Amino acid sequence: MNTENSKAEHARAKAHFPGGVNSPVRAFKAVGGSPLFIARGEGAYLVDVDGNRLIDWVCSWGPLVAGHAHPAIVRAIADAAALGTSFGAPSPRESQLAEKVKALYPSIEKMRFVSSGTEATASALRVARGFTGRERIVKFEGCYHGASDSLLVRAGSGVETLGLPDSPGVPAALAALTSVLPFNDVNALRDYFRGPLGRETACAIIEPVVGNMGVLLPNPGFLEALREETKKAGALLIFDEVMTGFRVARGGAQAKFGIAPDLTCLGKVIGGGLPVGAYGGRADILGQVAPDGPIYQAGTLSGNPLAMAAGSAMMDLIAQPGFFEGIEQRTEELATRLEEVCAKAKVPARVNRIGTMWTLFLTDAPATDYASAKRANTDAFKRMHHGLLERGVYLPPSQFESAFTCSMHGAAELDQTVRAVAESLSA
Ligand SMILES: *Cc1c(COP(=O)(O)O)cnc(C)c1O
Repeated sequence: MNTENSKAEHARAKAHFPGGVNSPVRAFKAVGGSPLFIARGEGAYLVDVDGNRLIDWVCSWGPLVAGHAHPAIVRAIADAAALGTSFGAPSPRESQLAEKVKALYPSIEKMRFVSSGTEATASALRVARGFTGRERIVKFEGCYHGASDSLLVRAGSGVETLGLPDSPGVPAALAALTSVLPFNDVNALRDYFRGPLGRETACAIIEPVVGNMGVLLPNPGFLEALREETKKAGALLIFDEVMTGFRVARGGAQAKFGIAPDLTCLGKVIGGGLPVGAYGGRADILGQVAPDGPIYQAGTLSGNPLAMAAGSAMMDLIAQPGFFEGIEQRTEELATRLEEVCAKAKVPARVNRIGTMWTLFLTDAPATDYASAKRANTDAFKRMHHGLLERGVYLPPSQFESAFTCSMHGAAELDQTVRAVAESLSA
């Protein structure tokens, strides 16, 4: 594969941006080599600046449920743009999108639009702290909630370990207010919430299905226990459905598992490929947000008319009968076929899958939490990733990321992907 132009663009971009990128995961650090620079997207395909056409299983890291440049979304954006790109005043498009979202997420009584997932989770944390008058928060190992200070805290295994910052620049005092619990460990969360820190805790925030360690599914009973224990401790439960929203099911993980969180964060799909996030939930909680209440949160471009139009068009597509089910079914077929070719090639592998999200873990044991996911063979993944690029298939450039199916992935794309995986594994 010729990647001369991508390499030249990467060299050029390095003069401007750290690593030549505007979000670290794009730099291909986890798989090595140099990132492809993209000229355009067409349905299920990315076309890079050298003219290579690749089947795109990244879908902009989730948002593009209808693939690239879907005509209905492009039209909605163009129509909105012709009427003005930002007003700094309310417009009916905001309620229009809110009504479509709330129809799918009944736990959201009131909401606020922001411009990214990071902004949604950071705002939800402030609201949870302001509402409860408590400062401590709980997150789960391996869950990613955007790049804000309180949430850039990973591990320290053990139940009551105080968080250590994951990044220089995160104040130790803030990180110390974040407790980290293992995912899928009911005993650990019971001990925590029934212990002394439980009553100091404003909220637990969780990816109800983890997407940011690769796809990890909650064990039966885990989310239920979290719902029960947070409630008893007087802490709010925040589902970060920035990735799982409109992907695990139309109504997200909360619909799939029948659990109502106090607050929900949305992002990615909700903007139809434009920058949108949202947080929302119980009306009494949102009632404390300015200007109705004292908890401050604001944004110049929040509820942007182009973004609202794109999101609205995306919601209409998702609402079409069979649209979501079709993508889900192809995801299931792909997962089954990938496991078959891995077995045939005698390569230990598992495909974790739910809704329209999936991860091919190169591992011989189930991946159910941070520790077990980390046992996957990242060297083999690297080699497979490059083998797939050579064969026109673009997987997320890391073992620990979810891949995404969109409505434009059809039989031909599935066939080519399965064949490419089989060939790359045997090469
Ligand atoms: C992507 C993601 C975020 C951050 O969203 P951005 O739009 O990248 O700021 C937060 N939480 C989860 C679960 C995500 O997958």
